[in-house]
Amino acid sequence: MKEATGASPAMAQWFAIKAQHEDSLLFFRMGDFYELFFADAQAASAALDIALTARGQHQGEPIAMCGVPVSQAETYLARLIRRGFRVAIVEQLEDPAAAKARGAKGPLKRGVVRLVTPGTLTEEALLEAGRANFCAAIVAHEGVFGLAWADISTGQFETEQSGPDGLAAILGRLDPAEILAAEEIPLGAYAARRVETRRMALHLPANAEAAARDLAQRFGAASLDAFGDFSGAEALAASFVLAYIEATQMGATPRLSRPVSAGRAGQLAMDAATRASLELASARGGSEAGSLLGAIKRTVSPAGARLLAHWLTAPLCRLDILQERQRGWLAIADSGQAEAIRTALRGTPDMARALGRITLGRASPRDLAAIRGGLAAAEALRSLLPAGVALLDEAAHALNPAPELLATLRAALAEPAPLRLDEGAAIAPGFDGELDAERALRDDTRRIIAEFQSELAQRYKVASLKIKHHAQLGYVLEAPAGAVEGLRAYPELQLRQGMANGARFTHPELSDLDRRITEAAARAGARERVVFNWLVTQVLAAAEPLAACAAALALADVLQGAAQLYEAGRFCRPALSDDEAYSITAGRHPVVEAALPPGTSFIPNGCTLAPQRLMLLTGPNMAGKSTFLRQNALLVILAQAGLPVPAEAMQLGLVDRLFSRVGASDDLASGRSTFMVEMTETAAILHQAGPKSFVIVDEIGRGTGTRDGLAIAQAVLESLHNQNRCRAIFASHFHELVQLAEALPRLAAHTMRVKEFRGEVVFMHEVVEGAAQKSWGVHVAKLAGVPDPVLRRADALLKTAERQQNATAPLPLFANLPDSAPAPAEPPRPRRCWIN
Ligand code: ADP
Ligand code: MG
Repeated sequence: MKEATGASPAMAQWFAIKAQHEDSLLFFRMGDFYELFFADAQAASAALDIALTARGQHQGEPIAMCGVPVSQAETYLARLIRRGFRVAIVEQLEDPAAAKARGAKGPLKRGVVRLVTPGTLTEEALLEAGRANFCAAIVAHEGVFGLAWADISTGQFETEQSGPDGLAAILGRLDPAEILAAEEIPLGAYAARRVETRRMALHLPANAEAAARDLAQRFGAASLDAFGDFSGAEALAASFVLAYIEATQMGATPRLSRPVSAGRAGQLAMDAATRASLELASARGGSEAGSLLGAIKRTVSPAGARLLAHWLTAPLCRLDILQERQRGWLAIADSGQAEAIRTALRGTPDMARALGRITLGRASPRDLAAIRGGLAAAEALRSLLPAGVALLDEAAHALNPAPELLATLRAALAEPAPLRLDEGAAIAPGFDGELDAERALRDDTRRIIAEFQSELAQRYKVASLKIKHHAQLGYVLEAPAGAVEGLRAYPELQLRQGMANGARFTHPELSDLDRRITEAAARAGARERVVFNWLVTQVLAAAEPLAACAAALALADVLQGAAQLYEAGRFCRPALSDDEAYSITAGRHPVVEAALPPGTSFIPNGCTLAPQRLMLLTGPNMAGKSTFLRQNALLVILAQAGLPVPAEAMQLGLVDRLFSRVGASDDLASGRSTFMVEMTETAAILHQAGPKSFVIVDEIGRGTGTRDGLAIAQAVLESLHNQNRCRAIFASHFHELVQLAEALPRLAAHTMRVKEFRGEVVFMHEVVEGAAQKSWGVHVAKLAGVPDPVLRRADALLKTAERQQNATAPLPLFANLPDSAPAPAEPPRPRRCWIN
């Protein structure tokens, strides 16, 4: 951008700042507004639907301008950030009155105080309460990728190392708000996503060792080893994300916890497709409703909701940690205190995020109140957590972070605390004598004015003389029409304004009073700021223990939620082990169950993958196959999140990798054909699934011709059986596949039970041993409302085809099998497929 010729000094300042921040909209502070100019104004007025005006001229053209009031800036910022803009906040760096007093010429000093980007938000209005907001950085180093991500609103800071194939899975898990990566890093589908991706090269430390040293220093340790084991790539990524975040905060340092290497935490591996298909924390379209999280969430605080989402999206395969979580919620359920814990936590303010803003120097009275509220909840909670479980004992210990602080905040902070400090009522009366004295002077105004009014009324012998405050004139005397002439005789009274029924006068003593009152208000404000800042330092001194306390509150909330599920009696504690057990009694799909219309009930189904580890599930469309598959995968997720599961009983040998290949036709956005997507995902399973893995495959081969599809389905099934040897459920509407069960010893054939009653077909949603009789396609078409003539025609065609098929040679695929399986004399007796 070129420097303006002949522009106003403030505009010259604008140009200079814009040149430094070309990729951001400048929120240029002018008094009570943030103003935007030129292209910024055009973009913002369109995005915010606010009026575009013009101001002055630049190179003969009017300068486009729009503005937002400072008091409402957060709302507008939120909208701009959501639309993918970055915003640089330019503040006035000096007090206008002070500048005027020292006789300064030219514009006020201004500078960028902060860059607002999607990954560096701290304001409640800009954040989703129940979701972490990560800024993630990816670097390539010695043939691997290092990732690091931080949420500056809560201080969470983690790293992980990955090969090229693992990137998408990690990003899928984190769902970062902003990704920093150099051009050459393959982001795959993520590059095209809604998420803000910054392709940038930053000045990194010369090498991984230097990065590790910088990091250690930043967190006050001699060496990074003090925090655990980090690869060079992780150290580089961590310093990358840290450097970026600090650059956006213009020198203010966010509180971040020491980095943790998430890759070493023993997570259950899931690729991006699996994750998306299971809808763990958000359903299709991004909403929480309809997701697993939405169905099982019983938390009562935003921090609890975030932690629960984290557990669900990052399940573990660590027996010790999972059993400890189970012991935690079982102890709460057994103690009978779950309801009391819930009451203590309900409405707990978001202490972690308030702490984030306080550390960045953006504390509002509400943030201090959030700390007070969090500490009060912690105090109430301490005696409620049952003792004897290490996880709960640690939490209880963390719930007492700063013994004096709660009392101080209770005494010092007004209740309720005002939104902003400049409202002048943040500090409670009685806490600071000096402040009380200044306020008395300020608040005494009314009495002083009243006394002065009667004094003047007597002095000028006008009983109805009134002192009023006027926006432009300050304090004035208002006299009725009849008294105006008489008052004009007094030289000290100056007529300023005539009115219909009288006139307004100014008076030197009144002006003096006005000044004293204003000064008292200013002095009270200044003293209040001093006290407030002192409180902030008290909080900052305890920042680490407070962060631990916030984490303990979140943990207690998640555990009480789990206890609640368990206590309601329809969720059980899964028995976890390190072997390859898999047995579920009467399992349910929590999301489908929650969505069933009233009056219908969910039909529970068990599933045992032993001795046969592979289940083939056939059955017509709409019979409940997909529901059953996902239900089993979701129970694995819940169990490995350490939570109770919707079943009567569950034995699970921990799964190392979970694969879900369900629902073709979802991925139209990526431009790959349904079949291509299906095969890519299938290839991933065949390459990676091992004996400890768990796989669900739904309707493979649907995206291509029948013969192709059937052939591929059979080959995949054989490979899962012979090579991968994983636990798997394989659903297909190709009932021809059932005959494979005879050839494959570890394959058990099951089907969805269907009842035929007086020509009507009823889907029982029940998994039974055996094979599907037919595909009932015409029946499903009828359910869907296809017109009768079409149904009759389809039926006739079907009969002809069946006759012809019997007459011609069998499909080559099953050349060694009978043409048509003889129908059993009786329908198979319905049996649950689990064995007690
Ligand atoms: P399929 O994959 O066999 O075509 P779905 O799993 O999509 O069938 O199920 C179709 C519908 O049947 C679901 O949307 C749900 O409403 C209902 N359903 C499935 N399983 C059950 C069950 N176990 N109990 C009750 N209703 C079920
Ligand atoms: Mg299905």
